[in-house]
Amino acid sequence: MVVGDIATGTDVLVIGAGPGGYVAAIRAAQQGLDTTLVERDAYGGTCLNYGCIPSKALITGSDLAHEAGHAEEMGIHADPVVDMSQLRDWKDGVVDQLTGGVEKLCKANGVNLVEGTARFKDENAVRIAHGGEGQGSETIEFEHCIIATGSRVIQIPGFEFEDEHVWSSRDALAADSIPDRLVVVGGGYIGMELSTTFAKLGSDVTVVEMLDDILPGYESDVARVVRQRAEDLGIDMHFGEGASSWREEDDGIIVTTELEGGDENEYRADKVLVAVGREPVADTMELENAGIETNERGFIEVDDFRRTEAENIYAVGDVVADTPMLAHVASKEGIVAAEHIASEPVAFDSQAVPAAVFTDPEIGTVGMTEEEAEEAGFTPVVGQMPFRASGRALTTGHADGFVRIVADEESGFVLGAQIVGPEASELVAEVALAIEMGATLEDIASTIHTHPTLAEAVMEAAENALGQAIHTLNR
Ligand SMILES: Cc1cc2nc3c(=O)[nH]c(=O)nc-3n(C[C@H](O)[C@H](O)[C@H](O)COP(=O)(O)OP(=O)(O)OC[C@H]3O[C@@H](n4cnc5c(N)ncnc54)[C@H](O)[C@@H]3O)c2cc1C
Repeated sequence: MVVGDIATGTDVLVIGAGPGGYVAAIRAAQQGLDTTLVERDAYGGTCLNYGCIPSKALITGSDLAHEAGHAEEMGIHADPVVDMSQLRDWKDGVVDQLTGGVEKLCKANGVNLVEGTARFKDENAVRIAHGGEGQGSETIEFEHCIIATGSRVIQIPGFEFEDEHVWSSRDALAADSIPDRLVVVGGGYIGMELSTTFAKLGSDVTVVEMLDDILPGYESDVARVVRQRAEDLGIDMHFGEGASSWREEDDGIIVTTELEGGDENEYRADKVLVAVGREPVADTMELENAGIETNERGFIEVDDFRRTEAENIYAVGDVVADTPMLAHVASKEGIVAAEHIASEPVAFDSQAVPAAVFTDPEIGTVGMTEEEAEEAGFTPVVGQMPFRASGRALTTGHADGFVRIVADEESGFVLGAQIVGPEASELVAEVALAIEMGATLEDIASTIHTHPTLAEAVMEAAENALGQAIHTLNR
């Protein structure tokens, strides 16, 4: 201990106030545990400040502008002008409202809030360095700790985010003007969400992706619907190319890519957005002092209760190995960790983890694909409903895509769904609930769904799997 430094104590110390950490802290406090939450930057973490929320706010703005300017078929003629700095202010207002709400909720639940950066002294204490000169530091001793330090963007050599021409997703979301030409490196979900956003705001967008398709990890027929729409929006996509360097020219920059055989391509741009993935923030906490090692990729390994190899120290969210880097996963893990510390009978069950991509159209997936169901030993039965057969989809002017439901043929238990189309991020919740509750195809098919809604397509897909669909031909 530093001279003059008095250590304070807490039952539960949570490091990081993202959706993993603040949710864990609130739940721990609700369980009657004295809880302290330490954050070095902003309440709400990546999700609220630099990720989910600002990206969805910009997507809403870009959709509105694009739709208004492309509704001639409906007899609507408009030529919207986007004031990017005003759109940014509106987005920032949404973020401020939510981050302020997180801080208030923590306080209202009795969570002690501490600003600073935590590093482990040993398995029962951290040292907090407060930000800013002369702010000093303090030691906090804990019974239990929950690490929720999240993740950061991966940089690629030669593309330093400090440079004004190179954007991380965070920079792109803070933009106050729309680049005329944007090269996006990486066709994963963040790259494609932002490509679509900027294309709709008026940028000429080029995507370069090392693999042979966008959205790795999604089935090809799902990715195809998004790719087709991206092409229609004018997004120029190049596969099998990795960005290798960039240089400044008189009228902007040139991004050079390398192809497999060694050939090179060049793309002119005003900005280059690098969106090649995220890596865990586990290397800045001196974890070794607490007896915790990370795996070869830098993630922290945990058990079903989110306990690390140190019995009293838990980890949740993006920093954890083997779970998807998603905000709702972080929050669920936070609840499991807090409740386990409070001796509640809980465990993390990853059977029905939904995931959404907010491209145009959206993707919503949960549970198993047909292939995964086969691998798991089921005999899957599959039902599908195209949105072009949905009355509601046609009335919104967005009828690309489909709902697919996968179930076990013998028992009828719903195993998964892949939805690509309008409001897929919302629709997938019905199937997640079905899986969680052990519902069958029959349960979904016999539930009366409101007409005309997109949710009817979920019912119709279940009927299709049963050979009872009315509005599509049964398989
Ligand atoms: C552009 C973008 C869009 C996204 N869109 C979605 C989406 O639509 N849906 C979705 O589910 N997910 C989305 N994500 C992912 C989502 O943001 C993360 O999965 C989520 O934020 C992870 O939560 P977390 O609590 O683990 O970590 P984070 O939200 O990263 O929070 C970690 C916090 O810990 C703090 N911290 C780190 N180290 C220390 C330390 N030593 N001491 C004190 N504090 C520390 C950090 O400052 C940070 O505030 C998106 C991400 C990005 C970048």
